[in-house]
Order: sequence, then C-alpha cells, then structure tokens
Amino acid sequence: MGKALIIGAGGVASVCIHKCCQNPDVFEEICIASRTKSKCDALKEKLDGGKTKISTAQVNADNVDELIALINSFKPDVVINLALPYQDLTIMDACLATRVNYVDTANYEPLDTAKFEYKWQWAYRERFEQAGITALLGSGFDPGVTGVFSAYAMKHEFDEINYIDILDCNAGDHGYPFATNFNPEINIREVSAKGSYIEDGKWVETEPMEIKRVYNFPEIGEKDMYLLHHEELESLALNIKGIKRIRFFMTFGQSYLTHLKCLENVGMTSIEPIDFEGKKIVPLQFLKAVLPDPASLGPRTKGKTNIGCIFIGKKDGKDKTYYLYNVCDHEECYKEVGSQAVSYTTGVPAMIGAAMLLTGKWNKPGVHNIEEFDPDPFMEDLNKFGLPWKESYDPELVD
Ligand code: NDP
Repeated sequence: MGKALIIGAGGVASVCIHKCCQNPDVFEEICIASRTKSKCDALKEKLDGGKTKISTAQVNADNVDELIALINSFKPDVVINLALPYQDLTIMDACLATRVNYVDTANYEPLDTAKFEYKWQWAYRERFEQAGITALLGSGFDPGVTGVFSAYAMKHEFDEINYIDILDCNAGDHGYPFATNFNPEINIREVSAKGSYIEDGKWVETEPMEIKRVYNFPEIGEKDMYLLHHEELESLALNIKGIKRIRFFMTFGQSYLTHLKCLENVGMTSIEPIDFEGKKIVPLQFLKAVLPDPASLGPRTKGKTNIGCIFIGKKDGKDKTYYLYNVCDHEECYKEVGSQAVSYTTGVPAMIGAAMLLTGKWNKPGVHNIEEFDPDPFMEDLNKFGLPWKESYDPELVD
C-alpha cells in the first residue's frame, strides 16, 4: 500500500520496524534512517527476507536539508519520527517542504528547557493544512493509546467525560539497582520536572513526586504511583467534552526514587552544561552514557506493565465510570521482537498510527493529536498487533 521512512533506530524504532514487517500489505517498503547507520543495518539484517522491502540510510535529523534530500530520494508516503523529541521540528520542516505525512510519539522540547508543551508543533497547523498533509502527534502509548482510549470512551460510553486519570504502571524488574526503560535523558527530564494536572481549565503545579497514591492494578497488584506532568493532559483537556480534571500517575519503585534523589542532589541530572577538563559537558548526557542502554534491558526484564485510563462522566443523565487498559508482559515482548514492554507498548502504536495514514483510514490535513481521529480502526489494530485492551465498568477509583 505504501512506503514509510522511519527515523531513529533505538528501542522504540526496533519494535515499530518489526511490526511494519508483520503488516506487509500496508508497509510494502520501509527505509530505516538514523544517526548511526550500523544500527539501521543490524535491524535490516534481522528482518530482511520477508514481504516488506527494507533499505537503510544515514541521516542527521537535526539538519533539514539532509532530511529533504533523503525524503526526495526515497519518496515515502509517511515519515515516522522515532528519534528524540529534539528532532520533531526539523523533521516536520522537511515533511512540509516535501509534502509528506508525519507521525511522532513525543512532543517537541528544546534541548535547554525540560518543558513539555504542544505550542511549537501546533504552530504548524495552518502550514500542514495548506500543504494538504497530515501530522499525527503522539502515536505511542502515553501519549498515544491513552488518547485513542479517551476518544473511544467518548464515542461509545459517555455523553460527557468529567474526570480522567491516566495510570501508567511498570512492574517490570530488570535486576539493576537503577536503569531507565527508555532513553535515560528523556526519562529523567520527565520525572525530575514539577508535577501538574488540569482542574477547571487551569494547570495546578506540584513539586516533583509530591502527590503519591497506592493503586491495586489488575493483573499486577498494589503499587505506589506519583502524579507527573504529562503532555497528553494538554490536548485531552481541549479535545474531550466536559473535562473538569485530568491527571497522570506513574509507578516508581523505592530503589529508583532513592537513586534518582541522590543523582539529583549531586547535580548529575542537570541539563546546564558545565566545564570538564576544558570541554563543556551536560551532566545528564554524561549520566546517560554510564547507565545501561535501555535496549540491553530486554533479555533481563521480567513482569508486566499495565497502562490505561479511568473515566468518570455521564451517560443518559446517569453517573458512569469506565476503565480501559492494556496489560503487557516484558518476557513475552522480548520473545516476540527482542525488546522489553516499554519499547513494545510505544513501537506498536507508532506502526498503527502510520498505518492509519497509509491506508487513508485517517486523513485530515493539518496538525492533529491522536484523539481527534476515529478511534475504532486503531482499537481493532491494537487487538491484532499485540496490545489487546480490557475494560471494566466498576474499577477502583483514585482519590
Ligand atoms: P533511543 O535513545 O533508544 O533511540 C533514539 C534513536 O534516535 C537512536 O537510534 C538515535 O541514534 C536516534 N537519533 C537521535 N538523535 C538523532 C539525530 N539527530 N539524527 C538521527 N537520529 C538520531 O530512544 P527510544 O527508542 O527509547 O525513544 C524514541 C522516542 O520515543 C523518544 O522520542 C521518546 O521520547 C519516545 N517515547 C514515547 C513514549 C510514548 O509512550 N509516547 C514512550 C517511550 C518513548 P543513535 O543510535 O546514534 O544514538
């Protein structure tokens, strides 16, 4: 059906590429392009021989001209951005110049401020619309599936949704005292930032990890979880009808938090460059270099993830609660595609989002968050491609 250019060759890209190859009628041809070409070649070698034709390329995604040249030579129907959030705008610029659809899994953030917001990417709305191309923002799990779940709940279960709690539980154990499950720099920037949630149309800010709850997760059990700022809060508060409050919680174990606090206290999580032996280095980037590579956690991680949304609202004038979630097993993921569940739960929806654009099931020129599209075909594909969802009409609520 079409051609996809995949930028990045890390944990999430690897899963997405495996899944494109499991869906060859839609992904007839893919090109894997990243900064380190050997990683692209290794993925090609592993997956070559199936129906999907694979090529590879070297690209610096910070450079718009290089990206334009690559797009002009490969001529993809969609670009799937699985590099880092810092590359979102350069890749969007290249898509605009070549009139190609765009998909990502994380919103743009500038290197020098850990601030997650959509304003930079929403500023492209008119230009994408005029060019007749679609940018699908946030097609991972959270953001991503959480937005699809919200659109599905709105379409099928509610007249209005007043409260959403997004709960992200990773009960995986990789055996290291401290490691991050995806890019350490992005992960630590996210969790050491202030928390926030939206209530009555306004952001309420908290200290990092200030709000803690214990939740009994289906198929996992009781875990401590903490309120974080998360990017989908901003778009869901605008796109879902009737929202009074929306919060995001993520589970963390005590060992992770103790290590993080210590690293913070000694300055290792700072993104301010410092002078070191005559060279400027960013402490957080140095920390990334000494931590285990998230891709290496796959074979060691046991246990499950449970990510989902609890909705409270009204249907036919009556109060209603509804919980949609997915449970994913780290070892099963590793067996299937050679990655742990955190990369898996992001890479599968990235493939599905791109498939929605390639098949024309989703076609809305402009820049859109995922909950603005019809959730039904995406929900079907989640069941088909390894992330089956479950529902409950009587979930435990978060106070
Ligand atoms: P990794 O660090 O494993 O991979 C990132 C890849 O991007 C690497 O291959 C890296 O190349 C490449 N890259 C980085 N900079 C450039 C550049 N300038 N030009 C070309 N390639 C570049 O990260 P993950 O796979 O864990 O994460 C990928 C994305 O997914 C991130 O944006 C992350 O925020 C997002 N994410 C989203 C989630 C969601 O649920 N929505 C959950 C988890 C992650 P090299 O190999 O040379 O370093």
